[in-house]
Amino acid sequence: MGIIVDRGEIYVARTYQRFPVAFVRGQGSRLWDEEGREYLDFVSGIAVCALGHCPEVVVEAIKDQAQRLLHTSNLYWTAPQTEVAQILCENSFADRVFFVNSGAEAVEAAFKCARRYSYQKYGPGRHEIIALWHSFHGRTMGALSLTGQRKYWEGFEPLVPGVKHVPPEDISALTEAIGPATCAVILEPIQGEGGVRPLSADYLLEVRRLCDEHDLVLIFDEIQVGLGRTGHLFAYQGLGIEPDLLTLAKALGGGLPIGALLGRERVMSALVPGSHASTFGGNPVACAAAKAVLETLLGPDFLDEVRLKGAQLAKALERLRRDFPELVLDVRGRGLIWGLELSFPAKELADRLFERRILTVPAGEKVLRFLPPLTVAYREIDAVVAAVKEVLGERGS
Ligand SMILES: *Cc1c(COP(=O)(O)O)cnc(C)c1O
Repeated sequence: MGIIVDRGEIYVARTYQRFPVAFVRGQGSRLWDEEGREYLDFVSGIAVCALGHCPEVVVEAIKDQAQRLLHTSNLYWTAPQTEVAQILCENSFADRVFFVNSGAEAVEAAFKCARRYSYQKYGPGRHEIIALWHSFHGRTMGALSLTGQRKYWEGFEPLVPGVKHVPPEDISALTEAIGPATCAVILEPIQGEGGVRPLSADYLLEVRRLCDEHDLVLIFDEIQVGLGRTGHLFAYQGLGIEPDLLTLAKALGGGLPIGALLGRERVMSALVPGSHASTFGGNPVACAAAKAVLETLLGPDFLDEVRLKGAQLAKALERLRRDFPELVLDVRGRGLIWGLELSFPAKELADRLFERRILTVPAGEKVLRFLPPLTVAYREIDAVVAAVKEVLGERGS
């Protein structure tokens, strides 16, 4: 093993079960390790590198901004931050944007904004947030408390009080959970880490109706599936149901850390001066990168192309299910996020693909997740599916 891996094993906290490789360079859908070996990347830094590795427009924007101004704090305005806010608002339901540095922070901001909105309108005591089982919203204490997977809670309880979980796709469970103390509902339009489970438009429509009826803040966590991943700029746009707040991160900075909370004025106005803050949030370099990412996603035909590629990947995965019905139990996804539900641990398949220098990542125990760059080539999709077929064939025989 190389020196980078060895040193990491000694000095870096063991929170990740890492693949034994250190990458030194990336371009498009490809990564190269210390020894110069090439890998095909269908993880994209966990849905971060939507435009592939080191996209020229993003690298140039970063270089240009880095030469001018690295940081000012939010005591002052900068052009990149105001421009990104304008682009996000002009292309979504939102009126205002609050900038942070990661997904968990965007969720924390949504948590606080929803509670504060209710507090200003109804006074104290109306603070409960309803989240879904199988959801993932991040690892900080507020986001972890919303996350509906017990394995992530182990050893960290007590969680933040005032969170209830209900099963997805179950409207009567949600109706029952809503009480006089409820202020918000949070969900991922497609549950990502929880196993790539898209929520149905029927269910989301009912959730929206219930939120309107009880004046609950509806929060969509689009940290993984927003920003072109589903073939729409935002996943909700493909469903025709609008949230009141929406969280973004991952792909927003094209590889730099940045997150955002988007919202309607009615709700965002709860975040008055002094109520919430972030020193780095909306950093000019991260925002220069985000501007380049957004302009690319909004360019002519970009999202149409994502839908076409997604259809090809979906069709190929469906074929795998037909060819290996005992091994592939389900195929779920939209656009360019897909999950293959297997009858055996997904880590095994990910490891076999890794040996073939193809990067994939499990989503839960038995779902293998595909998150290629949105710029992936058709032949790269074919190459990955062919490799999966080969591995399944070896296993099946
Ligand atoms: C990744 C993710 C988060 C957490 O983002 P971090 O940047 O890791 O804090 C939250 N919600 C969803 C849906 C995610 O996929």
